[in-house]
Amino acid sequence: MNDTSIPDLVQQGLAAARVGDIEDARRLLQDATRQTPDNIAAWLGLAGVVESLAEKEACFNKVLALDPDNSEAKAGLVRVQQKLGYQPAGPPQEPVSEPDPGLTYCYRHPQTQTGLRCNRCNRPICPKCARRTPVGFRCPDCIREQEEKYYSGGNLDYVIAAAIALPLSLLAAALFTFVLNRFGFFTIIIGLFVAPAVAGFIAEAVRWGVGRRRSRYLSRVVAGCVILGAAPFLLILLLAGNFFALLAPGIFVFLGTATVLARLR
Ligand SMILES: [Zn+2]
Ligand SMILES: [Zn+2]
Repeated sequence: MNDTSIPDLVQQGLAAARVGDIEDARRLLQDATRQTPDNIAAWLGLAGVVESLAEKEACFNKVLALDPDNSEAKAGLVRVQQKLGYQPAGPPQEPVSEPDPGLTYCYRHPQTQTGLRCNRCNRPICPKCARRTPVGFRCPDCIREQEEKYYSGGNLDYVIAAAIALPLSLLAAALFTFVLNRFGFFTIIIGLFVAPAVAGFIAEAVRWGVGRRRSRYLSRVVAGCVILGAAPFLLILLLAGNFFALLAPGIFVFLGTATVLARLR
């Protein structure tokens, strides 16, 4: 491995740590420190994933040998040495309360050490609790709070959604089965264009029906209706052995469910 791949190695190691793959993280970061012993980011990362306090202490000491003013390593070392049960030697250390990304404990699992924090409330969370969101790692409390704000619909919305989506899906599946199948080869091409449009219309009709309120399972309920709507036709064609005719309603089911799942998220 040449030197240009070292930053990658560190990045991969930190990424593995973030998703809770501690063993992989340890291996990658150990590789990185072996190949570039003066890499501070690699040592700090390694400190967060090694098992014993003595190993953590060694990592922080390495960092401080390279960069005596590194505050992350200083704070980490204080923590480790307090846990090891002796007072740090040398110049006065920074307060222990200083945020230390390398050595904190999950607020839901006080025994679990973690380098992760919720990027909304900044509380430390272990990889098991952390939920990866498009904007970073979040704790379950923040996720729930945001979901409650986001999902304004009640259970009645599922009933309304099904009452709209099921008849429309039945109708659409009937049209696909009995009309579109007459177009021979063009069935596929027309189906590929028409199925998402029809399913998009169903999704919009549902959205209008529930007053644009969002509900957690709305997309799945409507996708279920698309499948249920097409099921009788698929079953009849299957029992009749008319396999080529399965194509049109089949396209409707596949593209239709994908479309409503995407539209009603
Ligand atoms: Zn949070
Ligand atoms: Zn936890």
